[in-house]
Amino acid sequence: MHTTYFIADLHLTQERSDITECFLSFLLNEAVNAEKLYILGDFFEFWVGDDDDDPFVLSIAAALKTLSESGTKIDFIVGNRDFLLGKRFCAKAGMTLLPDIQLIDLYGQPTVIMHGDSLCTMDVEYQKFRKKSRSWWWSNGIQCLPLFLRKKMARDYRQKASLKQQNLTTDIMDVTPVEVVKLMEQQNSQLLIHGHTHRPAVHSLITNNKPATRIVLGDWYEQGAWLKVTESGYELLNQKFTHT
Ligand code: MN
Repeated sequence: MHTTYFIADLHLTQERSDITECFLSFLLNEAVNAEKLYILGDFFEFWVGDDDDDPFVLSIAAALKTLSESGTKIDFIVGNRDFLLGKRFCAKAGMTLLPDIQLIDLYGQPTVIMHGDSLCTMDVEYQKFRKKSRSWWWSNGIQCLPLFLRKKMARDYRQKASLKQQNLTTDIMDVTPVEVVKLMEQQNSQLLIHGHTHRPAVHSLITNNKPATRIVLGDWYEQGAWLKVTESGYELLNQKFTHT
C-alpha cells in the first residue's frame, strides 16, 4: 500500500536523546516502508547554518540520507526554529527543500502543507520578527557571522527562553481561523496539514463553501507523533519514548 508520513516539531537536539532515538526508530520501522516523508518544520530545536558540522547534526543527516537511498522521498519545509536550514544541508540529508507553503497532490486530494507559524497572526511580536528574519539582508547578515558566534547566540537565546520558564505548549499561540480559510481558498484546497502549535487534532471547517479539514501534527516533546496517510485514509499516531 502507498503510504505517506508527515512529521513536525521534533525539536531535535543533542540534549534530548529520547527524542532522537524515537525518531531513528520511526525511520527504521515506519518511514522506510513509505513512499514519501514530509518534514514540516522545527525538525531541529535550533539551526545556526548549513555549515554546522556538529557530529549530532551529521548523524541526523546520515540517517535521513540512508532513508532516501532506501527509496523514501523526503521533502522539508522550515519552521520558526530552523528557518536558516537550506539546500546545502538538504543535499547532505538526501531531501528536497520546499517553499513555506506548498500545494501537493495527496492521493488525489489537493493539500496545503506548511509549518503553520505564519497563520498565528495574533502573535504580532513574532510576526514582526518573522518578517525581519526572513529578509535576505537579515539571514545573509547572520550567516556572515563566524559559526562559533552564531552558536553562542543560539545558546544565549535558549538560556533566556528557559529562564523565563516558558511553557512551550501554552506559550505558542494558536492559528487565526480567518487566516486558515483565506489560505485554503487562495489555494483552492479542502485539506490543510501543519504543525507548530503543538495542539495535535483534526478540525472540520468550511472553505470554498465546502466541508474542509485541518490536520495539526503533534510535537515530540513527550512522545513521537506522526500522521500516516494512505489511499484509504489518515491516522494521527503516537509512539511512547522507550526508557533510557
Ligand atoms: Mn514552530
